[in-house]
Amino acid sequence: MAQRGIAFLMYHELEIPGRPLCQFDAGYSRYVVRNADFRSQMRWLQQTGRRGMSVGEALAIMATNGEERPGVVVTFDDGCESDLISAAPTLREASYNATFYVTIAFLGQRGYMNLAQLSELSALGFEIGCHSMTHAYLTDLDERGLAREIVGAKAQLEDILGKPVEHFSCPGGRWDARVTQVARTAGFRSVVNSRVQVNPPTADTFALGRIAVLRQTALPAFQEICRGEGLWKIQLRDRARDAAKQILGNSLYDRSRALLLR
Ligand SMILES: [Zn+2]
Repeated sequence: MAQRGIAFLMYHELEIPGRPLCQFDAGYSRYVVRNADFRSQMRWLQQTGRRGMSVGEALAIMATNGEERPGVVVTFDDGCESDLISAAPTLREASYNATFYVTIAFLGQRGYMNLAQLSELSALGFEIGCHSMTHAYLTDLDERGLAREIVGAKAQLEDILGKPVEHFSCPGGRWDARVTQVARTAGFRSVVNSRVQVNPPTADTFALGRIAVLRQTALPAFQEICRGEGLWKIQLRDRARDAAKQILGNSLYDRSRALLLR
């Protein structure tokens, strides 16, 4: 059964053939979607009359308790160069908006946007959100750390762009009540994490869920996500993976302990 609400899609880097990725480990590439797959996904959205929105546009719809035309929110984390050179042209072809969450410390690093590219993306009309100062896991930080990563990052990003930055995305999806409080006080209007759920009009705008589109996400699975269907399968898979890790960890621990005690 479909959950009622708007699906917020979470993308990271898009892979362009012949171009090295920002990072190389397997954990990272799991989140890298091939550019051709992204184009197919956007084409399907268009063919089915769905619109691609920014977070700000979705919040406006949610505040009026929703319009009927179906749509999804398109978000990108980290500020990769592929935001500007791959995602933006595809989104513009479809007349879609999107929100690009940027980590300040990544700007100018290999594979990530530099300041001029970020300004260009913003000038194209796309929404720029904040993805912290250094990509630290916020739940590990003290008050000073939270102020730097949330309040400081907002101010710096607004300096760069010359316009308000109102939406925040939590690095690694880690968040808690303190994060929410600091973000609210800093003047953000929303915080997204990566809990697998669609967001109904009544959703807490400081705890909005997002669904990751992964390298392995085939088109039928993508279509389900956009319809808010079968999300329990993703929730179950995520939980099973965490559990498997724990079980493997324990059994390896048990085996090595048995060897040592023999
Ligand atoms: Zn990130």
